Amino acid sequence: MSLVIKNVTKRFGSFTAVKNLSLTIPEGETFGFLGANGAGKTTTFRMILGLLDSTEGTITWNDEKITYDTSHVIGYLPEERGLYPKLKVKDQLVYLGRLRGMNKSDILKQMEEWLERFKVPEYANKKVEELSKGNQQKIQFIASVIHRPKLLILDEPFSGLDPVNVELLKEAVLSLKNDGTTIVFSSHRMDHVEELCENLCIMHHGQPVVHGNLKEIKRSFGKKNVIVHGE
Ligand code: ATP
Repeated sequence: MSLVIKNVTKRFGSFTAVKNLSLTIPEGETFGFLGANGAGKTTTFRMILGLLDSTEGTITWNDEKITYDTSHVIGYLPEERGLYPKLKVKDQLVYLGRLRGMNKSDILKQMEEWLERFKVPEYANKKVEELSKGNQQKIQFIASVIHRPKLLILDEPFSGLDPVNVELLKEAVLSLKNDGTTIVFSSHRMDHVEELCENLCIMHHGQPVVHGNLKEIKRSFGKKNVIVHGE
């Protein structure tokens, strides 16, 4: 199983948001997309998810195009977070888990494990609006992994988080990687991706400018920490 992006271009009218992107992400790999605002990362993710059609080229997972029917194998943490502020965390996750075809007891079990791991077991009965932005982000992360997806897409998962929560989330990503999940994520910052991924793609104005092994890229840049765009 692998995620294969082949000669993908996305145009919005006369504007090209992604230009001729080709890469293969093998099963179990954690792959980073790095780039400043507007580089084309989110557009690429939306095409992987089947939310947007590519103008040219193809994207397949396990040799098949991802469609609505196969999207249950994917977990997605969107850049624009989308939780219901008035719902309790528990009710929110039960609702979202059910949409993924899970039964209630499995959802609650998964939820308890994740809340424990994030050291906030008491949040189950809190309303989303009572939580800080960082803690809402953790709940959104749980929502994206509760159905144990094979392919996980995380759009800027670390943005807006304090250093403690960045570490907690990195540990969570690493544990999913150890369980064999294929993970694709975006970031503005090299220091966020370097502990997590073997390979990455640096995008600029819709084009992959560098793509390959992280260690080799760092060697050729000659820097320890590359900040593509300061946050
Ligand atoms: P960010 O970190 O800001 O999310 P990004 O790398 O994810 O940046 P994209 O959101 O993919 O970048 O946007 C790439 C370019 O495509 C931007 O210039 C954006 O304005 C443009 N774009 C994205 N969606 C559309 C759309 N539906 N219609 C027109 N232009 C779009």
